[in-house]
Amino acid sequence: MTTTALRELASRITGEVRFDEPLAGYTTYRIGGPAAALVFPSTTDDVVNALEFAAETGSRWLALGLGSNVLIADRGFDGIVIRLGRGLDAVQRGAGGDETRWTVGAGAPTPLLARQTAAAGLAGLHRLVGVPGTVGGGVFMNAGAHGQDFSQVTQAVELVDGDGTVRSLAGSEIRWAYRSSGLGERVVVGATVQLTPADPKELEKEIKQHFRWRKAGTPFNERCCGSVFRNPPAPDDGEARSAGQLIDALGLKGHRVGGAQVSPKHANYIVNTGHATASDVLAVIGQVQAKVSAEYGIELELEVKVIE
Ligand SMILES: Cc1cc2nc3c(=O)[nH]c(=O)nc-3n(C[C@H](O)[C@H](O)[C@H](O)COP(=O)(O)OP(=O)(O)OC[C@H]3O[C@@H](n4cnc5c(N)ncnc54)[C@H](O)[C@@H]3O)c2cc1C
Repeated sequence: MTTTALRELASRITGEVRFDEPLAGYTTYRIGGPAAALVFPSTTDDVVNALEFAAETGSRWLALGLGSNVLIADRGFDGIVIRLGRGLDAVQRGAGGDETRWTVGAGAPTPLLARQTAAAGLAGLHRLVGVPGTVGGGVFMNAGAHGQDFSQVTQAVELVDGDGTVRSLAGSEIRWAYRSSGLGERVVVGATVQLTPADPKELEKEIKQHFRWRKAGTPFNERCCGSVFRNPPAPDDGEARSAGQLIDALGLKGHRVGGAQVSPKHANYIVNTGHATASDVLAVIGQVQAKVSAEYGIELELEVKVIE
């Protein structure tokens, strides 16, 4: 994009716009080269304006939340990154006078929403307390944990289409699947969730249990993206094995290329041990996929979104 085009983009946005900004700092992997333009929308109109600009100029664009499920290429992203966070993170309790319905901005952190709803005695999202993304990213990915996911509670989603049209979709209109919403080329700007009354003390107890499990069994506070691979479907004639179990059984825990390593704690996590590049992580991914394919005839699919 030319300097003139970038200036024009900035003039249409009320939030901040940064140019040639390294994306590593906006991902939990701490990996990724620069974006031509990084837009921090403070309103839905900013999202609309950024998308209209992208459509007019034929620029690529990408929605980004907390960057906890992405691996961004070392060369970066030659387009407009729309990073949803503050400004689009309002939490409105009791939407439409119903205490069990909350309307939430896409930029709100999922762990915060999990805690706030649990403290208010509402079940449905509390088990996602350790899923470190935004509500927008959570809806887009149909993020979930311990038997709960966004598809189960999302009543409506506020979206901006790629051409800048704002609209609302009912949860029932979304093609939910395992770790997928099928929403495609759209930006989620908010969601309404329907929760269920429960004893806040019991919810707090569950939250503590889930945290203990995460601390003990996953590298939850290291530089990573959560599960790298989707769990494969169970074979017709056998027992389901998770991606982590398959990788672990091949003795790949600890396997590394450069600064990227299959976590010694959980085989479905590939961690950045300090100075990993996206190429290092992709090399580990390729080697793991090749070994799992050769040994079990299973083609592991990526859960992490690789942005190139
Ligand atoms: C330690 C750790 C543990 C994790 N555990 C879990 C887990 O238990 N369960 C689970 O499901 N996930 C888990 N994850 C993955 C990740 O936290 C979730 O997928 C999360 O919902 C991603 O949200 P995000 O805001 O970070 O999205 P990003 O990583 O920023 O984006 C992910 C994808 O969503 C798109 N996207 C983001 N925001 C929007 C938006 N507003 N509109 C449209 N598209 C958007 C992006 O373009 C990208 O394709 C874990 C990650 C880490 C680092």
